[in-house]
Amino acid sequence: MKRITFLAFLIIVAIIACSKSSNSSSSTIDGSTNNDFSLLYAKMYNIKSIDTSSSTVVIIKTTDVPDHKTPFFGKTSANYEAYNGDNPNFSTTINLMGTISDPTLLSQSLTFTIPRRPVMASSHQATSGGPIGIARNGVCFFDQYNGNGSALGSLEINNADQYLGHPTPSAAGAQYHYHYEPKWLTTKFGNASFMGFLKDGFPVYGPYENGVKITAADLDVYHGHTSTTEDYPNTKIYHYHVVSSNSSVPDSLEKAAPYINGGSYYGTPGTVN
Ligand SMILES: [Zn+2]
Ligand SMILES: [Zn+2]
Repeated sequence: MKRITFLAFLIIVAIIACSKSSNSSSSTIDGSTNNDFSLLYAKMYNIKSIDTSSSTVVIIKTTDVPDHKTPFFGKTSANYEAYNGDNPNFSTTINLMGTISDPTLLSQSLTFTIPRRPVMASSHQATSGGPIGIARNGVCFFDQYNGNGSALGSLEINNADQYLGHPTPSAAGAQYHYHYEPKWLTTKFGNASFMGFLKDGFPVYGPYENGVKITAADLDVYHGHTSTTEDYPNTKIYHYHVVSSNSSVPDSLEKAAPYINGGSYYGTPGTVN
C-alpha cells in the first residue's frame, strides 16, 4: 500500500515537472529571449526578396512602390486613383517655405538589414528622418517627425492620401512612406493584424488587439508592449502598434500621435541602404 502511494507520488511529480518544462519552452516571451519571427517574414509581400538564411540578420529588398493605387502615381499612370478620403483639404502639393512641391512617387532600390532575433537594447537609439521600418507590402515606415524634426501637422496630414501615405517632397527622390496607420493594410488584412517591421526587427501591429482599440496609454514610450497577438495567441512577444484616428482630417489625426513609434527604438536598429 505504502509502495503504491509512493509510486503515485513519483508519477505526479513527473507530470508536474513535464508540464512545467513544456510551459517554459512555449513562452519565449519578452523581447529578451528567443524572438523568432519566421511566421511574420512569410507574410511580407510586394517586395523584391527576403533572405532569412542568416542566424543574425534578415535582408529585405524593396522598390517601395505600393501595391495600392494613389494620387501620387501621377495622372497618366494606370495606378493613379483620385483622392477619395475624408480630408476636404487634401492636396498632392505641399508648400515648403515658399517652395511648392508636387512629386510623383518614384521606384526605390532599398535594402533593409534587420536583426534576426531582436532583443531589447540597453540604450535606446532615437529614430531619425527617412525609413524607420518596412511595412508588410514593402512600403517604408517613417516616424512622427518631418524633415525638420518637428511633429507632423496639417502641412503633412493634408498631403496624406486615402491610405495615409505620401512621397518625400523632393521630386528627384520622391520616396513613398507611411507615418500613420497604413489604411490599405488594415482594410486588407484586418485592424489587429501584422503591419510590418521596424528596423530593430520587432513587428508592428494594427490599431486593435482582441477587439479593443489600442491607445498610446496602453503602450510604453517606444509605442509598444509585450502581449499575445493574432499570430502568436499563446506566446507573448514585444511589438509596436500603429494607433488610429477614425479620420484623416488634421485635427483628429494629430490627436492620434505618435502614430507608429515613440521616437526611439525598443531594440537596436539595423540599417537601410
Ligand atoms: Zn512624410
Ligand atoms: Zn499589442
